[in-house]
Amino acid sequence: MPACQIDSSSPLVLIVDDDRMQGRLIGEICSRIGYRSVFAASYEVAAELISTTAFNYVTVDLALGERDGIELLRLVAALQVRPRVIVISGCEQRILNAAVRLAHSTGVCDAIALPKPIELAALRKALISKPCDCSVPQRPARDQAVITAADLDRALRNGEIYAAFQPKIALATGKVVGCEALARWDSPTLGPVGPDLFIPLAERSGAIKAVTLQILRSALQLVRATGRDDPKLVVAVNLSATLLSDPAISEDIGRLLQEAEVSPRALMIEITETTAMDDVSLAMDTLLRLRIKGIGISMDDFGTGYSSMSKLAQMPFCELKIDRSFISNCLNDADLWKVVASSVAIARAYNMTTVAEGIETFETWQALATLGCDVGQGFVFSRALRHDAFLAWCKQWNAAPPAKGLPEPQVLRKA
Ligand code: C2E
Ligand code: CA
Ligand code: CA
Repeated sequence: MPACQIDSSSPLVLIVDDDRMQGRLIGEICSRIGYRSVFAASYEVAAELISTTAFNYVTVDLALGERDGIELLRLVAALQVRPRVIVISGCEQRILNAAVRLAHSTGVCDAIALPKPIELAALRKALISKPCDCSVPQRPARDQAVITAADLDRALRNGEIYAAFQPKIALATGKVVGCEALARWDSPTLGPVGPDLFIPLAERSGAIKAVTLQILRSALQLVRATGRDDPKLVVAVNLSATLLSDPAISEDIGRLLQEAEVSPRALMIEITETTAMDDVSLAMDTLLRLRIKGIGISMDDFGTGYSSMSKLAQMPFCELKIDRSFISNCLNDADLWKVVASSVAIARAYNMTTVAEGIETFETWQALATLGCDVGQGFVFSRALRHDAFLAWCKQWNAAPPAKGLPEPQVLRKA
């Protein structure tokens, strides 16, 4: 094999390993593919190097003598521009997978694991495939600015808060079956403010009811706009668990449905539980009233926090949404895949529709369809769009079969 030219612009690899033989072997592979490498035999040396030099790749052995590789992952996560991390270890596969998950959760999005003894071809592949951009997004000033309840009230009065709609797709056929209404805030002074920021504030300040009713009105308008062409479109609206203890909420929702002249069957309420329900019997009361009206109830973020099995058994949910933290990497992580497969089986046992959220790749779509997951949502289909853009998107999606690179319907049809 002809030697690759190495110069100061060649990619730089930090090899962290307390086994010098193994370090030398990795260094050898690096030079064969034209990379520069630096070797660190201890955590301390690696920590010093990481803080002073920009590396493109870091290979790290999980067992690093007294200090372990996990501490090093945290150091990498704190960097402004993060290298691709290749975790190498003789530990069992589940430990390797958990280390990669930890890396992802701390923000090192480009981390993979390779078992020991190292397979040279796999290491070479990990080093030459294009790293994903792991740089820390510059947090806009608005995220750091303190947003107050008064800002939120003003925004509501000024109509700055609106709904954007993300399509829900039947995975087996590729057809649009509904959408989720997601709250957006475009502030003229603060710029766009994410719901992760203003929804918790609204829950604390009490503005959440006004926000929810505002989103609901927009959602019902969308159903009316699609009504003639697509009467089966179900629009989902998020309802904070805190609102379930509001004894008037089911009547408020019923009234808005009547005013909009929309069938309750076109509405799905997604219960987002970030906090424990204040009063379980009041919550049950509300859920039952909504179901009796014919409105669907979905358990959002299944598998996390308070969206638990006991709630599933007790409450009248008809849809289960598997949290995107399980979906986004389920094809690369056997443990996550088991959670997804079990969730689909549980939903089936309760006669509930399963929705996978956070589908970002065609392969994930295909695998979930084969598993029997009913509906999907995610960037592979579309991000959330404003009213008009959503309608235009649906028209285009329904008119043309899924674009090139996306599956033919028969590929996905369930056996
Ligand atoms: P959620 O209910 O779990 O909504 C789904 C979130 O996942 C949305 O984030 C959506 O943009 C994002 N998402 C969808 N597909 C993908 C994907 O393929 N990849 C990735 N990485 N993300 C994807 P968003 O809009 O930022 O909303 C965040 C959360 O804010 C929502 O999570 C929900 O809990 C809350 N929220 C939004 N609107 C409302 C609302 O009107 N009322 C209440 N109570 N909560 C709301
Ligand atoms: Ca939701
Ligand atoms: Ca969710």
